[in-house]
Amino acid sequence: MFILLKKRNILIGLLVVALTVSLCFAVTATATSAYSVPKMGKTVVIDAGHGGADGGVVGVTTSVKESDVNLSVARSLKHFLKTKGYDVVMTRSTTDGLYGMTTKNKKLKDMQERKKVIEKSGADLVVSIHCNSYPRGDQRGAQVFYAPGSEDGKVKAEAMQSVLCGTLGTERKAMSGDYFILQCSAVPSLLVECGFLTTPAEEKLLVSASYQEKVAYAIFTGIHTILGEEGV
Ligand SMILES: [Zn+2]
Repeated sequence: MFILLKKRNILIGLLVVALTVSLCFAVTATATSAYSVPKMGKTVVIDAGHGGADGGVVGVTTSVKESDVNLSVARSLKHFLKTKGYDVVMTRSTTDGLYGMTTKNKKLKDMQERKKVIEKSGADLVVSIHCNSYPRGDQRGAQVFYAPGSEDGKVKAEAMQSVLCGTLGTERKAMSGDYFILQCSAVPSLLVECGFLTTPAEEKLLVSASYQEKVAYAIFTGIHTILGEEGV
């Protein structure tokens, strides 16, 4: 009787273990299928402009740092791109600049490091995120810049600008701009000025999380227009 009972207990024990293991596998399989996104096979470098000692433009009414707005937009953009299956490389993921505490020429080191990240990435596109300034405080709207003399850059910038105009309601035009980030590598590169932190009404929008997400989604749509299957 004792032996029989022991055998029954062992059998029940084995059944419980088998059931637990199969349940674990089921949960893992469900989790994997829920979160795996088909890969686009394309890599985008997101460059959140400024950071660390270099805050960029200062908001005219809130004193917000451009570097912080750029980072928020960059993080949302990364989320949208990853969700669609793009590979993403960030030049910076924190509020710090790309240098050590004791670095002497911080700006130079920062730009050199961004160039290194871009060159190492094997990316299909670089998108640098910034906010604009203008002394008069009456300018508004997102604007896209491309490397001077780059026909390919112009086509891509105009495609991005068209999406930004349609989704954010601006009438600005894509322009060439003599920016380091646009010319520091062979990777096609665009610079997006998300709006003017020196225009109070637009600054109010740019500091809000919902508008930052809206801008990020517009830039994501522009990138997908450029790099998607029907890309320009
Ligand atoms: Zn900037």
